[in-house]
Amino acid sequence: MSSPSVSVQIIGSGAVRALPHRGGPSYLLTIDGRRLLFDCGRCAVHNLHRFGTPVESIDEVYITHLHFDHICDLPLLLLLSWNNGREARLPIYGPKGIATFLESGVHQAYEADINSRIKHGNRVREKLDWAATEITAEGLVYENATYCVETLATAHAGLANWNFRITIGDKIVVITSDSEPDQRLVEFCRDADLLLIECSGTKAFYDSVAFGGWHITPEDVGQIARDAGAKQVVLKHFVMESFSEDPGVAESMAETVRGIHPSGEIYAATDGLEFTLQP
Ligand SMILES: [Zn+2]
Ligand SMILES: [Zn+2]
Repeated sequence: MSSPSVSVQIIGSGAVRALPHRGGPSYLLTIDGRRLLFDCGRCAVHNLHRFGTPVESIDEVYITHLHFDHICDLPLLLLLSWNNGREARLPIYGPKGIATFLESGVHQAYEADINSRIKHGNRVREKLDWAATEITAEGLVYENATYCVETLATAHAGLANWNFRITIGDKIVVITSDSEPDQRLVEFCRDADLLLIECSGTKAFYDSVAFGGWHITPEDVGQIARDAGAKQVVLKHFVMESFSEDPGVAESMAETVRGIHPSGEIYAATDGLEFTLQP
């Protein structure tokens, strides 16, 4: 059996605040043409189309946590993919509360719009629907013959918060959530071929803002990636840039990580950046 083709594209490399060049958190993992979207933040829908992926072609969605920067485009993704002719019920895996978020954020919030479009006659209500699964325990979330998705819970701002590890044959992709420091991330990221890991800002920056304790530092990222033996490491979820005059903040954090994990290939994410894992 031939190895599956695996690629990952950064759909949004930013975080909460609107930066013109960085969408909110969203990452696309494509396995033999099957498209898995991890988080669906600000501009995810726009950027997916910009980078050539129509929203109706997304096959599965995984949500790390319910901070709005990670989910605000999810109602739009459902509505637009319905409008565009999505045929299958979209599976969505996320933390406790995701089902209520979707019920209120799609069915209730857009009731008038949905009824209007149904009366217009071009869509039926059932095609809008999704299949939400609330993750309640660490471990296996989904598996098929080609890949499996596992989770690890870490602390982040008092929310249910899931990190994802995807095993595709002998290839491993890990996509972390926002996270407070947690040494269990080392084992979870073990031998990752590609590790997408949050690096919101520096220690000095965290010390200056109220939410600083919710995130890991570039030094934490370097130590986790080094101890896990991660091969390609992509820093994402850049927050500090929105507060800094220095446009080189992301690259200087990448330099810090390189200093700690010199045998890894370290990248600062940009929107549209794509990685292909060689079989
Ligand atoms: Zn975030
Ligand atoms: Zn968060």
